[in-house]
Amino acid sequence: MAKTYIVGNWKMNLNVGESSIYLHKLLKRLKIARGVEVIIAPTTIALQPLSLQIDRKRLKLAAQNFYYQDFGAYTGETSISALKGIADYAIVGHSERRYIFKETDKDINKKVAAAIRNNITPILCIGETESEKIFGETKDVLRDQLIGGLSEVSLEDLKKVIIAYEPVWAISSTKGARLAAPDDIAASVNIIREQLKALYGKAAEGIPLLYGGSVNPSNAGAYLTIPGVNGLLIGGSSLIADHFIDIIDLAKRVVR
Ligand code: PEP
Repeated sequence: MAKTYIVGNWKMNLNVGESSIYLHKLLKRLKIARGVEVIIAPTTIALQPLSLQIDRKRLKLAAQNFYYQDFGAYTGETSISALKGIADYAIVGHSERRYIFKETDKDINKKVAAAIRNNITPILCIGETESEKIFGETKDVLRDQLIGGLSEVSLEDLKKVIIAYEPVWAISSTKGARLAAPDDIAASVNIIREQLKALYGKAAEGIPLLYGGSVNPSNAGAYLTIPGVNGLLIGGSSLIADHFIDIIDLAKRVVR
């Protein structure tokens, strides 16, 4: 049975105390869901205390960001090796990192490789901006971001990677964000699956592909049933525990 992934990206919200209260509330209602992997990505400082509070059978942690070197003179950075035993996943290449912090495909590629090297599963985010979509560049952008992000990933390591398709224009933090239609997402999912196949052949079929962009309890069901989509990456709605739990419940019902 293929897993469905429900990932909550808290971004730069909830301090350590608030994160712990949220987690307490979540764990009270969260049952072991066979076939559904629930993951939350709190701020870096909250990862370690939350790692002591979670029950890994029900919930896993993801880092939102890290530096690709394992140690050294990089003042202010957190290495992925320091997150070993704390986080099981790490978000890489989120559009807010690409566009606000100017991360390039080269940086992203190194982060993907560093995560794999440290046995942490990278969730590689890709997606076109509004203007790229308008100019018909979606296919090229997705191809370039996949090739750029995965160029150091061997066929053998491919099973350690998750891809998240997040059209930048549909992310709630984007000015004037709008909801992506399931047909639009399906078209991009096909492009991504085709490109992965071109890069890795049949082995690419097993790569989990998530959708992210203004997901909420009202639209999550429709997004989860798009063929080729194996889960959701959720920003804003994941900050409301009741909404996040509603989405997890929906995922349980559509488990493949
Ligand atoms: C995200 O940050 O990855 C995201 C999809 O955010 P939102 O759900 O708020 O659009």
